[in-house]
Amino acid sequence: MAKDYKILLATHPILRQQAKPVIAVDAEIQELMQDMTRIMVRENGVGLAAPQIGVSKRVVTIDVRFVKKDLPNMFCMANPEILWASEEKSIEKEYCFSVPEIGVAIERPSEIKIRYLDEHGAYQEFHTTGILARCFQHELDHLEGIATVDYLSPLKRSLAIKRIQCLERANRQEETSGAQPLFSR
Ligand code: ZN
Repeated sequence: MAKDYKILLATHPILRQQAKPVIAVDAEIQELMQDMTRIMVRENGVGLAAPQIGVSKRVVTIDVRFVKKDLPNMFCMANPEILWASEEKSIEKEYCFSVPEIGVAIERPSEIKIRYLDEHGAYQEFHTTGILARCFQHELDHLEGIATVDYLSPLKRSLAIKRIQCLERANRQEETSGAQPLFSR
């Protein structure tokens, strides 16, 4: 049966550490990829990294239906790595399940080439630009323990972290009182 995961906030220790490499894309990893895809679609997200649901493994899922029709619907990736990034950069505001309501403008390479293991354990390479390139880089950051708030100036970052800690406390209190959590993502 599929496990029920909860999306963690960026202040959680699992989201502040480097995720562990996947040794082999076995049944356990495939089930994790399926669970992540289900959660991502349920929450209307475009990408999810395993540490966001409390699993410290280098697994990322990305829903590309919103970008291009000629691509596979979902990317399920283990051990993704950036092989090449363009010198040309662009800035866009990014939102994240683990950083509720706070959009952060982030400068990133506009074009990247990545390599990963797919859901069958085969190496794939993929070259992409624009919003998809940004989405990959955002999810890869999660595997390094980096969140969008880390791109803010020190003052803004500490304010954002305080806000997330407040949400975390509110969630805990709601949970212990048995009520529905205020924010579960
Ligand atoms: Zn995120």
